[in-house]
Amino acid sequence: MLSPMKLFPIFADLAGKTVLLVGGGAVAARKAALLLAANARVDIVARELGESLGEEVRARRLRYLAHEFVPEQLDGHWLVIAATDDAALNAQIAAAAAARHIFVNVVDDAALSTFHVPAVVDRSPIVIAVSSGGDAPMLARLARERIETLFDHSWSALAALLARARTRIRARFANLGERRAFYGLVLRGEVAQLVAQQRDTDAEAALDALLASPQPAGLASHAGHVTLVGAGPGDPGLLTLNALRALNEADVILHDRLVSAAILDLARRDAERIDVGKVVGRHHFSQADINAEMVKHARAGKRVVRIKGGDPFIFGRGGEEIEYLRAHGIEYRIVPGITAAIACAAYAGVPLTHRDHAQVVRFATAHRKRSEGEPDALTAGGETLAIYMGVAEFANVRDKLYDEGVSAGTHFAIVENGTHSEQRVLTGTLAELVECAAAYAVKAPSLLIVGDVAQLAETQHWFGTPALTRPLR
Ligand code: SAH
Repeated sequence: MLSPMKLFPIFADLAGKTVLLVGGGAVAARKAALLLAANARVDIVARELGESLGEEVRARRLRYLAHEFVPEQLDGHWLVIAATDDAALNAQIAAAAAARHIFVNVVDDAALSTFHVPAVVDRSPIVIAVSSGGDAPMLARLARERIETLFDHSWSALAALLARARTRIRARFANLGERRAFYGLVLRGEVAQLVAQQRDTDAEAALDALLASPQPAGLASHAGHVTLVGAGPGDPGLLTLNALRALNEADVILHDRLVSAAILDLARRDAERIDVGKVVGRHHFSQADINAEMVKHARAGKRVVRIKGGDPFIFGRGGEEIEYLRAHGIEYRIVPGITAAIACAAYAGVPLTHRDHAQVVRFATAHRKRSEGEPDALTAGGETLAIYMGVAEFANVRDKLYDEGVSAGTHFAIVENGTHSEQRVLTGTLAELVECAAAYAVKAPSLLIVGDVAQLAETQHWFGTPALTRPLR
């Protein structure tokens, strides 16, 4: 689910459209310049015109309408900008505009405005706009500065070059997959490099050569493939760059319940998303369905991303999926992710190994294939045990540990929703495990860490709320 957006971002085509500007000072002059840059036709109402605006009016780039604002002046205008220093007048303009359903911007007054003018990074035709909806203008400015540094000015030239070549590229590569691969080659290769060095003619020639060659070198075949991607535990910051790249290039994304919305938001907008989230006990997509789905889309030439929480090879059935892909002759690649044990431990301040406490770590699951026989040993001393999928099984897990001679005084930490803003950490001793989990109504996804190191969650906490220690009574 997307978070609620205070403002809906749009880019308006104002070319040839009339906009009303009320105000004649320096601020109004800046707005006029912006509007003129977008080829808008600007009508101005002002008690007094500053020098530059006066000049624009004399040169007939602006049309001077009147000395005083009256609501009727709004008719026939697409937008209005109120840039006067008279608060009552600004409010009157805002009200009159609202009555006519005309978007109004009152300079420096977010409450009165129905549209905002964002901070802009202009690499035309690429334009990046940033807004905080008036809530945090300093942050918006900082974001804009950072973006400025990310996109150097060669982006303009590159975009212009591609715009000129677009029809030819389309004609040469009718197939969408091939076309994307070709763009990838242009954007990551020599052409982009030449543009960055401001060698526009050479860049143009390199692009022409690529277009002319019968099979451009480095152009990946457009056969579909599957990328098995680990999404990490939830915090999008824990995605790898390769995972991000795969999401950016995906045509089809098959995702699990554990993959957070914030991560899916980073994927290519027009990728088809299929929620194959399974709930243990009442699958709505069986593993067989998922396998079939991957093969179907890959055979159709799509770049399929099969993305899962954590790491695909840690209790993620990644092994079964690639066996299936291999058996069906589908090309695959694998992007590892940060598994829950690693992430939860880090976000709870619990080192999984420690020279004083733990020399061995084991990842285990409380949940196993139903057909399987009795579980094997869980833990011995001097060891940290990370147990996945344990929420419904805490009593079982505890009893097994007791059977193996693990003492009731051994520490545990439960990390619920690790790395998410709602993360909770509970600590205690094995004797208290079941009672503690019940008292705090621990829910999935939760990771159980057992071993001496678990205790460190009480003192080494740094993320989210501090560890809950004793059961409520
Ligand atoms: N492949 C995943 C594990 C899938 S099994 C990985 O590598 O992390 C699902 C189990 O992972 C959950 O029952 C829970 O025990 C654990 N888990 C996954 N994400 C978690 C999170 N954000 N916080 C706590 N536990 C998590």
